[in-house]
Amino acid sequence: MSPGGDVAVIGGGLIGLAIAFELAERGATVRLYDRDEPARAASWAGAGMLAPYTERVADEELLQLCEDSLAEYPPFVERVREASGVDPQLHLNGIVHAAFDEVALERLREHGDALRSRGVTCDLLDRAHVLAVEPWLAHHVAGGLLVAGEGHVDNRRLGRALVAACAARGVSFARVASLRVECDTRRALGVRTNVGFTPAVAVVNACGAWSSLLDGVPPEMLPAVEPIKGQMLALQVPDAFVRRATWVPDAYVVPRDDGRLLVGATSERAQFDMRVTAEGLHRLLHAVLQAAPSLAAFTVTETWTGLRPGTADGRPFLGPTPLEGLYVATGHYRNGILLAPATARLLADAVCGNAAPELAAFSLPRRKRAS
Ligand SMILES: Cc1cc2nc3c(=O)[nH]c(=O)nc-3n(C[C@H](O)[C@H](O)[C@H](O)COP(=O)(O)OP(=O)(O)OC[C@H]3O[C@@H](n4cnc5c(N)ncnc54)[C@H](O)[C@@H]3O)c2cc1C
Repeated sequence: MSPGGDVAVIGGGLIGLAIAFELAERGATVRLYDRDEPARAASWAGAGMLAPYTERVADEELLQLCEDSLAEYPPFVERVREASGVDPQLHLNGIVHAAFDEVALERLREHGDALRSRGVTCDLLDRAHVLAVEPWLAHHVAGGLLVAGEGHVDNRRLGRALVAACAARGVSFARVASLRVECDTRRALGVRTNVGFTPAVAVVNACGAWSSLLDGVPPEMLPAVEPIKGQMLALQVPDAFVRRATWVPDAYVVPRDDGRLLVGATSERAQFDMRVTAEGLHRLLHAVLQAAPSLAAFTVTETWTGLRPGTADGRPFLGPTPLEGLYVATGHYRNGILLAPATARLLADAVCGNAAPELAAFSLPRRKRAS
């Protein structure tokens, strides 16, 4: 199946890039529009954890989508690496949760039991074992849970790899000062920018936290997406000082192959405020140093913010809209890096006329979820 004409993807985060790459690999002619440098917004700012169980996704349809995407990650990364020559440094070596008192450890035991009944491998660790796995944790740690199969990818490298992979597969990039989608009453017609009009049989709104503001789209076809600000920082630590992404109370740490240790993340309703604040950094550093005083002497090398695309019910908006030719792929909130491969597959199928039934749960006019 082919889309039967040119496809316009608007938004060059990991979501838009992955869709463009998938479509181009299937032989489609794709133009990717961004008003900024691609792969620099939330997709650059994120921690790169691939962690549906750690994130405790409770919505069954969303959890299923996350599990599918996690399973698709290794072949997806391999295809991107092959097309780009850039290794996105995928590590699926598990995620550790550390508990600092018996009540928290009991909650981890219950979480582990629930995961095991779903077929997820996880081990409850006593104090000695959790310290053997991650020796940098404070010695008063009570124990932990190691969830197998989850992990992390270097999302900044993945972004660079996807840009190169898209270019290698013939995707054309348009960096535009202004852009509007042109529609008539029946369908989306294409994209008008400061350099003219380009028709398209399919226009994909992949604008992340800005998706509800896309010019030219009828208001009822705009997804209700709200920016949720996240602040993070990085420490420079010795090689392999931290082996796995680890959750401690009120923070997490994620190691990178280049020695950076990411510490995240705040979650704030602050509209489009991109400031790094004293309070945000204080909260992260306080939480992480309580759990690991051994990190106190390392250099803070970077601080940053990003805007997660949040939705009211926590589900992304995926697939065709009631306006012919207009598609949405946005609202991935805390799991957009994880969900990139499955989103790309589902959107490419839909654009090629083969929308999967599971998209109904993520459609733009979906019913409210029963609480
Ligand atoms: C601090 C933080 C930590 C996170 N950690 C994780 C994690 O560990 N695991 C995980 O899976 N997810 C994580 N996320 C979430 C994840 O980063 C996002 O869900 C994901 O990156 C969203 O990707 P996107 O492509 O939709 O949006 P973005 O990456 O924000 O890209 C949107 C793009 O659209 C462009 N754009 C917007 N409007 C227009 C327009 N009108 N015209 C042209 N271009 C436009 C922007 O310039 C931008 O390039 C985290 C996010 C943050 C902020």
